[in-house]
Amino acid sequence: DTRHGPILYVEGVTKSFDGFRALDDLTLYIDDGELRCLIGPNGAGKTTLMDVLTGKTRPDTGQAWFGQRLNLLELPEHVIAQSGIGRKFQKPTVFEQLTVFENLELAMHASRGLWTSLRWRLDGEQQDRIDEVLALISLTEQAHAPAGVLSHGQKQWLEIGSLLMQNPRLLLVDEPVAGMTGQESEKTAELLTSLAGKHSVVVVEHDMDFVRSIARTVSVLHQGSVLAEGSMDEIQSDARVREVYLGE
Ligand code: ADP
Repeated sequence: DTRHGPILYVEGVTKSFDGFRALDDLTLYIDDGELRCLIGPNGAGKTTLMDVLTGKTRPDTGQAWFGQRLNLLELPEHVIAQSGIGRKFQKPTVFEQLTVFENLELAMHASRGLWTSLRWRLDGEQQDRIDEVLALISLTEQAHAPAGVLSHGQKQWLEIGSLLMQNPRLLLVDEPVAGMTGQESEKTAELLTSLAGKHSVVVVEHDMDFVRSIARTVSVLHQGSVLAEGSMDEIQSDARVREVYLGE
């Protein structure tokens, strides 16, 4: 039995914009330590769901429990951000003038205020944690290069690394491999797979080869709710999924 209890339990969430139901009675259960992929056609509600989970958008009805105790729908955005949910948007945002190492250092101290953070001295443990994350994101050799010289893929990893510096329990990752080379995608698959277990990871992605390479369970969103859930093989042989999503 691989169930560890839920890290996330979303129940009956509905959100309308001007009468249009972007989320329609959506229910979703994510196990602690799981790596889950969310797929679905444009307009299916994926972004709206991420916005609800991070407090950016308030749903009309429903519940969303994080780690069994926190009701996300009652918490303001900044409290959610500090409670262990990290979100990575599609476009990487790194501090280009700072080195890779400094980017991670800054992320580690972000909760203390960005301005003072680079004047803090790192203790051995913090130094070790940065080294550990550098290795994880394959940027050890680039540690002292300015982030601005990194490739697009490397910037994406640095941003994932920056999120990791805050020890999130749940990472929400939006289209991580968009614009990456094949080799970078493979490394990204390795990275996200290696995070599962220690963290829970929800990945929104359109690249089906990538989804197949990382996901154990895939949830298909359609018209604001979960249409189907299962392994990639199960999803791809599901007649309803083929009809609405694969256009067959
Ligand atoms: P996805 O990320 O799966 O492409 P979205 O969650 O972005 O889907 O969008 C779901 C639907 O909700 C879309 O039809 C979109 O136009 C609508 N929508 C999302 N956000 C807003 C908003 N702030 N105002 C009005 N409509 C919105």
